[in-house]
Amino acid sequence: MLNDPRSHGLWEKTAPSPPPAPRLEEVVAADVAIVGGGYTGLSAALHLAERGVHVRLLEAAEIGFGGAGRNVGLINAGMWVMPDDFPRELGPLYGERALDLLGQGPYLVRELIETHGISCELEKNGTLHCAAGADGMKELEERARQWQKRGAPVTLLNAAETEQRTGSSTYSGSLLDMRAGTLQPLAYARGLAHAAVKAGAKLHTGSAVVETGEANGKKFVRTAHGQVSADWIIVATDAYSTGPWKQVRLEQVHLPYFNLATAPLGDNLRRSIVPGREGCWDTKEILSSFRMDQAGRLIFGSVGALRGTGTAIHKAWARRSLKRIFPQLGDVDFEAEWYGLIGMTDNALPRFHKFGRNVVGFSGYNGRGISPGTTFGKVLAAHVLGEISEAELPLPLTDTTEPGFRSLKEAYYEAGAQIAHFAGERF
Ligand SMILES: Cc1cc2nc3c(=O)[nH]c(=O)nc-3n(C[C@H](O)[C@H](O)[C@H](O)COP(=O)(O)OP(=O)(O)OC[C@H]3O[C@@H](n4cnc5c(N)ncnc54)[C@H](O)[C@@H]3O)c2cc1C
Repeated sequence: MLNDPRSHGLWEKTAPSPPPAPRLEEVVAADVAIVGGGYTGLSAALHLAERGVHVRLLEAAEIGFGGAGRNVGLINAGMWVMPDDFPRELGPLYGERALDLLGQGPYLVRELIETHGISCELEKNGTLHCAAGADGMKELEERARQWQKRGAPVTLLNAAETEQRTGSSTYSGSLLDMRAGTLQPLAYARGLAHAAVKAGAKLHTGSAVVETGEANGKKFVRTAHGQVSADWIIVATDAYSTGPWKQVRLEQVHLPYFNLATAPLGDNLRRSIVPGREGCWDTKEILSSFRMDQAGRLIFGSVGALRGTGTAIHKAWARRSLKRIFPQLGDVDFEAEWYGLIGMTDNALPRFHKFGRNVVGFSGYNGRGISPGTTFGKVLAAHVLGEISEAELPLPLTDTTEPGFRSLKEAYYEAGAQIAHFAGERF
């Protein structure tokens, strides 16, 4: 995308084309202007257009340019934080409401994919959160207890069961979450875009919003070549936010995360490594993730940016780690490599912001945006339609506050991942 093979890597190679979305070059009126062409903006556009609302979506670069086209493709339920942390952080009302909604999030993703016939390599066999050592297992036992008391279909697997499913004897156990799964993330974003266009939404790429305001009782968003005036503005720019809502980006700390994809594996290896195609990641502090794509490529990822010295360090570490985790794999070459920036909030929970009357947005999914972005986009549509009041939203209204030492923390994450991966990191 934008001639950078390290931004969207494998996903760009294997995703179907997006719908035509010409640059905005006129002054137009709409009911709702949506800023950002990732899951949040596209889901809002689709759900609004389906209800006959006149929508214009403006994307600075291309559909899926932000996190939506760079991620691992794990369709998770809930967030990184433990389920009980939701009511602890947000209070019982918002906490349980948000948890319920995000716990159901993967089902909405599946439903949209199936209803709109989105071709995005959907796998519904769950995810495996894999335990590193006894401490990792303890964490998963607690996570299982907290989800199970809420009736979620999660099961703790022992080391042997985990080995059978992953093809690796490295883990002391795992938590299988049958709500979850995997998909091709850019294909999903582009599929949502096709569905939104079919429902009547008008999408514009190469159309960065540079200014916003209010005139004659209407909101407006302005790009270098055009303008949309509307009754509502949905801000769906998250970690890649630029322009008038850059504070959305500034309240987050960017955590870089990279992925490397092998060439399609042979039949024997495919029968041994994650044969059920669950999406997997581990409990380590500098975590790793692995999953298969539909063609049988193994996609392996971890914290770090593939730039400067990071590129060689992380790739060498990935080769060593893969050999340790999957000795049957032998030496591997990578067919694609890419990385992106995950927006982390200070309590690891998403945010609802209001930037003035009728200007609203959700953001801050902390590396878990496929289900939450899709879900909150639908919630925003219902809010705009007057079907969900502000008090009934799943998150309380918060201001954007820049965390202390943000730049320092970002430099620490990037350099820390390099040091850890250079040192070889045992396990
Ligand atoms: C490397 C990586 C791995 C991840 N892994 C996972 C995973 O496995 N599972 C999961 O659920 N989540 C994962 N995530 C998180 C997930 O990708 C994000 O949470 C999700 O993409 C957020 O969706 P969004 O629509 O809110 O924002 P985005 O997808 O980031 O889209 C925002 C869009 O807004 C546009 N924009 C910004 N400013 C402007 C402007 N001024 N005018 C117009 N457009 C603008 C950007 O160009 C961008 O395309 C990962 C993220 C990364 C980076």
